[in-house]
Amino acid sequence: MTLPFFPVDLFDGDREALLDIVERVGTAPEQKFILGECTAAFEAAIRDSIGAADAIACGSGTSALMLVLRAMDVGAGDEVIVPAFGCAPLAAAPALVGATPVFADVDPWTMVADPEAVTRLITPRTKVLMPAHMFSVMADMPAFRRVADGAGVRLLEDSAVAQGGVLAGTPAGRWGDAGVYSFVQVKTFGMPGEGGMVVTDDRELGSTVRMLRNHGQDGTTRFRHHRIGYNSRFDEIMAAFQLHRFPTLPGRLERRAWIGEYYTGRFRELAGCGVLAPPSASDGRCYYVYSLLCERRDELHEFLAARGIGSHVYYRNPLPRQPAFAPYARPGQTWPAAELAARRSLAIPIYPHLTDQQVERIADAVCEFAKES
Ligand SMILES: *Cc1c(COP(=O)(O)O)cnc(C)c1O
Repeated sequence: MTLPFFPVDLFDGDREALLDIVERVGTAPEQKFILGECTAAFEAAIRDSIGAADAIACGSGTSALMLVLRAMDVGAGDEVIVPAFGCAPLAAAPALVGATPVFADVDPWTMVADPEAVTRLITPRTKVLMPAHMFSVMADMPAFRRVADGAGVRLLEDSAVAQGGVLAGTPAGRWGDAGVYSFVQVKTFGMPGEGGMVVTDDRELGSTVRMLRNHGQDGTTRFRHHRIGYNSRFDEIMAAFQLHRFPTLPGRLERRAWIGEYYTGRFRELAGCGVLAPPSASDGRCYYVYSLLCERRDELHEFLAARGIGSHVYYRNPLPRQPAFAPYARPGQTWPAAELAARRSLAIPIYPHLTDQQVERIADAVCEFAKES
């Protein structure tokens, strides 16, 4: 594969800096490897960049979701409405805190949770709505905000893939009572390790998350446990590396957006040929992954592979069709748009260090497939 879907050189340009940081943190007199000054500075940088009241670094995006659900007192008997199409943590996080994930169908074009489908599933047991931004499109957060407020339930925004995205002037992560980011390798602000962040304007929620991430301690009295918490702490080396990379993030996001918009422009004419690009818009876009909907998805995957271009199918099954989550599915419920997305979506490379020629080559290949076959 000359253009792999998952590139192995994401951090090559920052290798020296990483080695310096390992040396600096590793030999510092205080020997503090988790939740130290670098983590605090990283939290402050993220918090201030989006104007949130608090930002709490933790072990992963998945545990960020769990920490927020626990801080919202979600547990046995509660329902959390999640998209039927998406990654495992959407269903696993509510289940792991003892609640029931309820699966809502998605928009057939953008593949994000559909506010009307979510509204229909609200019951007296519903405690949280948990929409997620998907691939390159943010969920309809103004609608979810209205629905959550109207129903008197909380809104947890899974913005794990949308860091840097803005919808109607509000950054991804700040539409919900809390939002989350993930820094796993492949995400837009990925790093060579595991980590996540909770962002919130609710200070009380923030301080509860802060306690829960470190065994329920309050940060002042060690070994005094106010809550049953988790070990979901943040690594100082990773925090220093993220601080080092933060100033260059906007440039990478801009490049992703340029590539995404170029693709959408090139693919607009393919809608009648069985290849559907995301809607063209600049508001509410995140360009983490660029996913197409293709009638002959597996053929396009093969066609691109034969030309040295990697592509990837993210979710081959809706969440309620996974063995682990099927027991939570409501009997008789169906998710036609999620089923279609699982059969048709195919992601093509969009990482920021693709050259213009490479981007053009990828677009040419997709157009050739759609028009010739
Ligand atoms: C990646 C991702 C997560 C989980 O983040 P991790 O850091 O991998 O645990 C949660 N939700 C969505 C939508 C994601 O894409």
